Amino acid sequence: MDLGTVRSFRPARSRADLELAGGEVVVAGGTWLFSEPQVGTTGLVDLTTLGWEPFELLADGTLRIAATCTVEQLQAAPWGPLAGLARQAADGLLMSFKVQRVATVGGNLCLALPAGAMTSLTAGLGAEAVIWTPDGGERREPVSAFVRGVGTTSLAPGEVLRAIEVPPAALAERAALRRTSLTPLGRSAAMVVGSGRTVTVTASTTRPVVLDAHDLDAGLAAVDCWYDDAHGAADWRAAVTGLLAHEVVEELLA
Ligand SMILES: Cc1cc2nc3c(=O)[nH]c(=O)nc-3n(C[C@H](O)[C@H](O)[C@H](O)COP(=O)(O)OP(=O)(O)OC[C@H]3O[C@@H](n4cnc5c(N)ncnc54)[C@H](O)[C@@H]3O)c2cc1C
Repeated sequence: MDLGTVRSFRPARSRADLELAGGEVVVAGGTWLFSEPQVGTTGLVDLTTLGWEPFELLADGTLRIAATCTVEQLQAAPWGPLAGLARQAADGLLMSFKVQRVATVGGNLCLALPAGAMTSLTAGLGAEAVIWTPDGGERREPVSAFVRGVGTTSLAPGEVLRAIEVPPAALAERAALRRTSLTPLGRSAAMVVGSGRTVTVTASTTRPVVLDAHDLDAGLAAVDCWYDDAHGAADWRAAVTGLLAHEVVEELLA
């Protein structure tokens, strides 16, 4: 849609271009940003012109995914045995292949919707968010902590998500994913990713919840952030999440 309040559009070419003026916000794929009015936004700064490599395998085996990597590009990353898991996560997004061509992994995390399947995938694999701070520095935290609630992240004003790093151990571990929705083509109501000893619950909770696979029932019983909206009531989400989480653990241990 037309954003009637926007007066300027700047392609970012260097980190210095990410210094935002009042009313400016960064745009990546724009699939959410251009989908509803952005009252108060007067300028856009394009991240996709920074030319970041969509993904790289670092010397220690870490998979570094640029925030601007699209959901489509992510499928070509060197996932090894986890390629199917990455595909399953992408298919968990309620969007066509055309939208997947432009929607970015970073945009998905920064939007912080419970049904953010890129959050599910990367939090589930114990990935770390790499964040550029306005003073020219960088900070890191687990994706599971970066997404704090519905539409809320730890990003402070002026901070930009630069990359997401999947640790080598997670790429070597077995992993499993389960998802459900209220209707066959509905938005994810619960998505559970297991990797190694951890089971990460998303979509049914307002933020990612990381549980110990060996103490699953106690972990599930302690969850205090079940999500309730048109795509599923909280008690139903809690019940199906329990079933999916047990399936995930069975698959990991099989
Ligand atoms: C048909 C359709 C279906 C969709 N289905 C889903 C779904 O099932 N689940 C879901 O979660 N979303 C869904 N979305 C919403 C959205 O498309 C996705 O979340 C997408 O991944 C957002 O990425 P983007 O690059 O388009 O973000 P943009 O729209 O460019 O940006 C989203 C927000 O994140 C900020 N942002 C983007 N990148 C960064 C960065 N690197 N650092 C700091 N801030 C940043 C922007 O300022 C903006 O506030 C859907 C959208 C459409 C149109």
